[in-house]
This record gives sequence, structure tokens and C-alpha cells, in this order.
Amino acid sequence: TRILIIGSGGREHAIGWKFAEDFKAKEQDLELFFIPGNAGTAQLGTNVSITSIESMKDFAKENHIDLTFVGPEAELSVGIVDTFQKENLNVFGPHKAAAQLEASKAFAKDFMDKYGVKTAKYKNFQGPMLAIDYLKNQEYPIVVKASGLAAGKGVIICQDFEEAKQAVLDIMEDKTFGDAGNEVVIEEYLEGFEASILSFFNGKKIVPFVSAKDHKKIGEGETGLNTGGMGVIAPNPLFTDEHFKLFEEEIMEPTKCGLIKEGLDFAGVIFFGLMITTKGVYLLEYNLRMGDPETQTTLPLLENDLFDVVNKAIKGENFELNFKNQHACCVVMVSGGYPGNYEKGYEVRGLENVSCPTFIAGANLSGDKIVTSGGRVINVVGLGDSLEQAREIAYENITKINFDYEFYRKDIGIV
Ligand code: ATP
Repeated sequence: TRILIIGSGGREHAIGWKFAEDFKAKEQDLELFFIPGNAGTAQLGTNVSITSIESMKDFAKENHIDLTFVGPEAELSVGIVDTFQKENLNVFGPHKAAAQLEASKAFAKDFMDKYGVKTAKYKNFQGPMLAIDYLKNQEYPIVVKASGLAAGKGVIICQDFEEAKQAVLDIMEDKTFGDAGNEVVIEEYLEGFEASILSFFNGKKIVPFVSAKDHKKIGEGETGLNTGGMGVIAPNPLFTDEHFKLFEEEIMEPTKCGLIKEGLDFAGVIFFGLMITTKGVYLLEYNLRMGDPETQTTLPLLENDLFDVVNKAIKGENFELNFKNQHACCVVMVSGGYPGNYEKGYEVRGLENVSCPTFIAGANLSGDKIVTSGGRVINVVGLGDSLEQAREIAYENITKINFDYEFYRKDIGIV
């Protein structure tokens, strides 16, 4: 079997690792390819450095790839799945039309509104004048969002009118997020705690993963700048069965009905970013791909054969997802300076000594050395029968890994 994974982060390393573990368990041959991959994926298969979607499609055809799994939103939002499907290639992920649920927050909010998916009150604007006018009569704090893809940075929580007006001007006139700011969403501020739920969709049914809790800020105690994610635990200890029921009824089911009614059904991932408030469970956003590092945290808990469930989803067949009755704690090691300008080019040592799933997020091979190349460098995932045990294992293993300018939060999983 030959599987192609698109992407270069810890997420893609974890997806490749899961396929490799499953094939080892069933004693079947597997060849993995990554475009472009990183130093971690190079240990599992072949890294291929091509960049255009056309050439990725040609690569999949020429190499008789049995399944392509697309990690990042960028390729999805420009239609990699459509291109692959035109050539009858087996691919897991949303087509371009559905990927707009992530690529355009304005589109996503209109979709949620139309299908009664529980979400914060909002209004979309295509220009700054009306947006600023609208802000005059609102309650504060309020949330101003660049509608397009801005790598998690396009969301500004504003305490008063002046701040909100400035946010609109920054986004729409100064184009701080480029074309992502051609449209803005102005949204009611929700107070609560967050939870993430990944799921697989087969075009008819959404099958959820175990819940997860992200730690987005660079500093301990959720302080400082936003990052791509400094750690995740699963399950989310604050997310109760009652919350889960509300999520299923008021978010997951109406989403499924809406996708089918709009003809947006696909086989791929839906990631639900949730805010749990005293008034219930709200949907903040959809991502149409696996989260990073939610993937690294939840895949080690997944009992199913990933190739099997993904193929069933693509065929529109039924499947269940079963998760180990365990806890996972993923701690992200970053390079000094991140999320601003960060150090790179330093050797990562000690990876051979770790005894838990460990994924490379931002490091490349330089000769036979692994050297830091990204802001987020390594993801260490402790697994245990309790959250405390999972944490202990993650932090014990982290001390075995060293590189210059390393930094990680010491409070991942402290709830
Ligand atoms: P990411 O890619 O990091 O998930 P994103 O740019 O796609 O982020 P959102 O998830 O919509 O955008 O928002 C990012 C963060 O901003 C949320 O995780 C949440 O902490 C905060 N946020 C967004 N909307 C609201 C809201 N209505 N009320 C309070 N906080 C919010």
C-alpha cells in the first residue's frame, strides 16, 4: 500500500506514524510519501519536494498512490481535492467549496446561521464605513475577525469602540492580514472555556473524536502572545457528557444537515472549535482539516486502523471511531523568540532516548543531524491512565531532548 501525506508539520509526522503503526500491527507492507515532509517524516518514508498542486497530482498518478491525506488548509482551500478527484485519485479531504467553511469566516457564519448551528451573534462587512457605524451601538468587549485565512492571528478581541474601530481600520485599510481582510466578521464576545472536537465525515454522518483542550498562548497560565498551539490534552477534563450531548444536538447534527442540503458533502475532517459558556456550547469556528497539535494528541489514542476508516469514509460507508480509555498530554517544544522571530539551525539531541510518541514539527535534516528549522520544533506526547500520569510521562521525556534556545510551557494539562 502506498500513502501520500501532504504537509510538513508535527501533524503530518503523527498521521504518518499512525499509518505506520497500524500496518506494522497487521503485518502488511506500507510505503509512505510526504510532500514536503520534515526530518521526522523522513524516518517513516520518502520526502518529496514539489510545490504545485498539478505536480502533486502527477506524482500521485505516476507512483500509484492508493490514498492521499491532505494536512494543511492552504492546499485544501485552493482545491487540491478537486484536482485529485478529477483524475480518480483516492483522496481524503474537503473539496474547494467545502473548504471555504474554514477559508472564509463570513461564509462559515452565514452557513451556521442558515442551519441553526449554535454560534455567537455576528454581522459581516465588506467595507470599513458600515462596520464602524455598526460598532457605535454595540456591547463591549466585541470580537473583530479578518474573514480569510490568517494563521490564527486574524482575531482581535476589543474592549471598547476605539479599539474595535482601530481593528477594523488595521484589517480593512492597512490590510495587516492581506486579502484575508477584504471582509470582516464582527461578533459577540463569548465568555467561557474552549474545547476542540475533531471528526471524520463520510458525506452522510459525522463521527467525532475524543474531546481535546488546546493551550494557545506562549506563556504559562495562558499569558502572552497567541501561538499555533503550545500543548494539548485529551480528553478535555472540563468537557462533560452533558456538553457533548449539547454539541451533538445543537452543532454537529445541524452542521451535517446543512452540508448535505448545500451539496457540500465530502469525505474528510471537520474540526469544531467550541466555546462552553453558562448559556451552553457554542461553535466558534470550523476547520476542515486535522488540528495541530490536536492530531498528535488524539491519534495515539485512536484504536481503529486509520487506513480502513479513511477508506470507508471516502466510500460513504459507515464506521465507528474508538478511543483508548487513556489520557494524552502533548507538550510542544519551541525555539526561543517564537511566536515572533525565532532561532533556528541548532542541533536537536536525545530523540533516540525518548520512550513515548514524539513528533518533529519544525526540524530538518542537515547531513545526519536534525536541526531546528521552525518555531514549533518537537511534540512530545505522554500517554497514561490518568491525566497526571500522561503529564508526568511527557515532561519526563522532554528532559531527554535538548537543543539551543529550547522553550516549553511547564503547565500543559494543569486545569
Ligand atoms: P485558530 O486557527 O487559532 O483556531 P482562527 O483565526 O481560525 O483561530 P477563531 O478560532 O475563530 O479563529 O478564533 C481564535 C480564538 O479567538 C479562539 O480560539 C478564541 O480564543 C477567540 N475567539 C474567537 N471568537 C470569539 C468569541 N466570539 N468570543 C470570545 N473569544 C473568541
